[in-house]
Amino acid sequence: LAAEEALGRLVRDVPDFPQPGIVFKDITPLLADPEGFRAVVAALAEAGRDADGRPVVDKVVGMEARGFIFAAPVALALGVGFVPVRKAGKLPGETHAVSYALEYGEAVLEVHGDGLVPGERVLVIDDVLATGGTARATVELVGACGATVTGMAFLMELSFLPGRATVGDVPLTVLTVV
Ligand code: 5GP
Repeated sequence: LAAEEALGRLVRDVPDFPQPGIVFKDITPLLADPEGFRAVVAALAEAGRDADGRPVVDKVVGMEARGFIFAAPVALALGVGFVPVRKAGKLPGETHAVSYALEYGEAVLEVHGDGLVPGERVLVIDDVLATGGTARATVELVGACGATVTGMAFLMELSFLPGRATVGDVPLTVLTVV
């Protein structure tokens, strides 16, 4: 089963969620389908390999909450560690924090200061690239640890939003553009 086919068949559009006018991409049918889920994880993991299939990253970072679901199995597929980026106040240790603008208000994301080692190469994984605010904040957090985002991979890019431009100069893999 190809990842793009799985996404086409198993991601559900939910109109007016979480607010009127938003069409939410619901990934829960994909998660419930082991073949589709496996195909998507395998395709995301390719973003962390070279042409010979060797891992070229030292860590995989995933963002709370849906990013966790994909980043953790990608890390295991690559044979590297997983590091969570979480909403403010959830991580117990010393953290770096970055605040970023939401459509209304702002949000704060954090990473453990010792979660990444300076010089490490990092693959960032999330489900949807929308405005790019979450992804950009994550690039800053990785940088604050002295590590480098060498790639980012998403299930879906929303073509009507400027996420790609917001993220800037980082190699981007998207499994499907919607
Ligand atoms: P951004 O910061 O790029 O605007 O939003 C991306 C974040 O919001 C991601 O962490 C993603 O999980 C979530 N997100 C935004 N829109 C959707 C959507 O339609 N479906 C899903 N599953 N997540 C979304």
